[in-house]
Amino acid sequence: MSLGDPRDIVAAKRDGQSLPPSEVEAFVRGYSTGEVSDALAASFLMAALLNGLDDEETLALTSAMIASGRTISFALDRPTVDKHSTGGVADGVTLVFAPLAAALGLAVAKLSGRGLGHTGGTLDKLESIPGLRTDLGPERIERQVAEIGCAVAAQSPDLVPADGALYALRDATATVPSIPLIAASVMSKKLAVGTDLILLDVKAGSGAFMKNTERARDLAGACLRLARASGRKCRVGVTDMSQPLGDAVGNALDIAEAVAILHGDSRGRLRDLAVWFAGRALEALRGEAFDDACSAAEKALEDGSALERFRRMIVAQEGDPAVTDDPGSVLPAAPVVRPLVSDRQGWLAATRADAIGHAAGALGAGRVHQGDPIDPAVGIVVHPKIGDRLEVGDAIGQIHARDEASAERAAHGVLAALDVSEERVEAPELVHDWME
Ligand code: URA
Repeated sequence: MSLGDPRDIVAAKRDGQSLPPSEVEAFVRGYSTGEVSDALAASFLMAALLNGLDDEETLALTSAMIASGRTISFALDRPTVDKHSTGGVADGVTLVFAPLAAALGLAVAKLSGRGLGHTGGTLDKLESIPGLRTDLGPERIERQVAEIGCAVAAQSPDLVPADGALYALRDATATVPSIPLIAASVMSKKLAVGTDLILLDVKAGSGAFMKNTERARDLAGACLRLARASGRKCRVGVTDMSQPLGDAVGNALDIAEAVAILHGDSRGRLRDLAVWFAGRALEALRGEAFDDACSAAEKALEDGSALERFRRMIVAQEGDPAVTDDPGSVLPAAPVVRPLVSDRQGWLAATRADAIGHAAGALGAGRVHQGDPIDPAVGIVVHPKIGDRLEVGDAIGQIHARDEASAERAAHGVLAALDVSEERVEAPELVHDWME
């Protein structure tokens, strides 16, 4: 349909009406061609945030965003999986999951994003490896995935460009936290890439967009309905982000942590979640019993086969493979590294993950606006998890900074983000829900 006067579409949404799919599609098309201004699109986004979008409208928005660019499909001899997190702090699951799933016989074609706000981005982390390229292009991704089983690349600008533009506008106009807008944004990028399984990690808690499990379940449900309506297999884990998942919040620091896990040297919630998703992927794609699949994933971390896939992926993407043996010898290092020392005593009851993400961002590890430069060397390592016992004077991590003053500020920010209790505290569940 032709666009007509786009103000009528915005006015109808402002007044709480449901829009016919053809109008939503025409509006997005009009925004892509420049017929709809940023001002009008921002008004539409705010009206959608305040009045909601029903399933039909959300599907129309998603389809129109996909239609704004090219799509990618793969012809491989193994089942393909794309894993995506809605964003968290110390969330290096993809770095472990991609080579791990490859070692288990799956093909992982992963288009990743950069960090924004307090959340980290897989591309920024990978690019801290000297030489490593993420601008691979569809043909090279397909070749690499066929040979090695995994590729983690930047989303090309011609894939779902309308989402790129609308996401930047949402970021600039306080219209990010809307379930239908997030679902359409995430799923347009997943549906534009033809994999056999979309595996979503919807985070819930202080470090996530969705601050509680109910909202995270709602977002998961919206994503699943979009996948179903598009005839695609999708599974969603609703997982804990009430504290940083791993210990490292930075870029080079995240890589070092992932390498330690791939060496089988490091235990904890990050490793457990990567194994859990690998088990779920094998269950969904190969029909394996979940417990057996998790055991196979544990073995692939212990016997070095996942590490070997990671090494081959780094080489294929032109990064320095020495990072897989001795990360400290090649990764950028911050000039100031100071210990983080507990100033309180008790059982760790809460960790405001967003505050820790912001503290790492203030050191230079993150960006406020898309396109801002980041410092790959700086960041925070904080070991305690909810339920752990802290004593005054305990060494609980490190601050990696450019100078003493910023290290001091970051240490203060991290300690202020930790709440302790005199009573014992239970560790939160790692996975709240598994939705199909
Ligand atoms: N991640 C996305 O890709 N889009 C959103 O809207 C939020 C998180």
